[in-house]
Amino acid sequence: MNFADKNQKIISSVPAVYLHIPFCREICPFCSFAVRRDRAGLHEKYIRSMVGEIGRRAEFIKEKKKNHFDENYSGQKFLESIYFGGGTPSRLMIPEVSLLLGEIRNYFPSSDQIEISFEMNPEDVTPEYLNGLAENGVTRLSLGGQSFNDSTLKKLGRCHSALELRESITAIVNSPINNWNLDLMFGIPEQSISMFKKDVEEALACDPSHISMYGLEIHERTPFGQNKQFRKWESEHQEQFEEMYLWATEHMEKAGLFQYEVSNFSKISKEGRNNLVVWSGQEYLGFGVGAHSYYHQTRWGNKRSLSTYLKHLDANEWPVDFKEQLFAEQLAAESLMLGLRQCKGFNIKDWQRRFGLQWQKQQLDFVQELCDEGRAFWEDQHLCLTPKGMLLADKITVELLPTIRRN
Ligand code: SF4
Repeated sequence: MNFADKNQKIISSVPAVYLHIPFCREICPFCSFAVRRDRAGLHEKYIRSMVGEIGRRAEFIKEKKKNHFDENYSGQKFLESIYFGGGTPSRLMIPEVSLLLGEIRNYFPSSDQIEISFEMNPEDVTPEYLNGLAENGVTRLSLGGQSFNDSTLKKLGRCHSALELRESITAIVNSPINNWNLDLMFGIPEQSISMFKKDVEEALACDPSHISMYGLEIHERTPFGQNKQFRKWESEHQEQFEEMYLWATEHMEKAGLFQYEVSNFSKISKEGRNNLVVWSGQEYLGFGVGAHSYYHQTRWGNKRSLSTYLKHLDANEWPVDFKEQLFAEQLAAESLMLGLRQCKGFNIKDWQRRFGLQWQKQQLDFVQELCDEGRAFWEDQHLCLTPKGMLLADKITVELLPTIRRN
């Protein structure tokens, strides 16, 4: 492929780009993401391959644009979000971050207000590293803290201690990047309600602009999934997890962090930009191992194995694992699911108009039941779930889907 004219930015692009950095210092025993243990020798080849993938995709879009008859590719958009996720992006050296950002900027025109978000683990946070990120235009940090309790961190197999987490937060607060998220987890084996409440209270005292709060999910093909005691714990403590979640959502709001999605809370106007783009059904491109993209009603996901990903790019082939075109039925289902997971709710009129669908009595009765139980409410044309309803968001979506398929 000829990249000689790569400095000509493509005009039509997407509002969001995701860059997946799969390296982690150690692999946490609950993790099901596309990750691998970090080795410095791997970085160079991986970054080179990502650069190749970015260039190849950008050229592909540019070629499509040249075909004026192809109206699908003629819109103009500016990049509003670049998100470094993983894995652990903070395993990268600053020049590696710089190189990837340079490639994205070469090809994709950015909005002046772009948000560049970067995931870090506490053990990698230093003032020098934070300054390096800021100099490269990073505007938001996401810290994988999970808990301030050493026994909980040990149970999760995390590499950092509570003290290191506190020190990393101090470094972030004193850095030039003051928009930051803290990840918290609940539902961890042997984590009591009072231990979790202390985590939330300490997190709020640190005054982050955003908290992502996830219940531990135990996936079968992980060491946690193979542990019968953990699975038993999970099935026997559902009520406790609900209590934790509801208590936390109430306390976050009192502290000025407003829930905007099942697991996400932010100060006003500090919602994660990447989240907003993806959840509103807009297009995005993902680069790197296991990264997903959504473009022109087509979703694809990259190979999850690092060696396979590298091999494909070496051979100048797309490193794509699956690709599917989404038709109206799937788009309607996704739009329902994404709408219900967000606090602003799901606009039933828009949805009906867009997909030509109508809820039947069965669905309307079900929604009424949810409202009577305090799990949902109507606001204008929007069906919104309360925190109690959010706990069942996936189940509620499924309940509302079968009839959609039949229509
Ligand atoms: S640090 Fe994060 S991405 Fe890496 S193994 Fe642990 S949970 Fe997974």
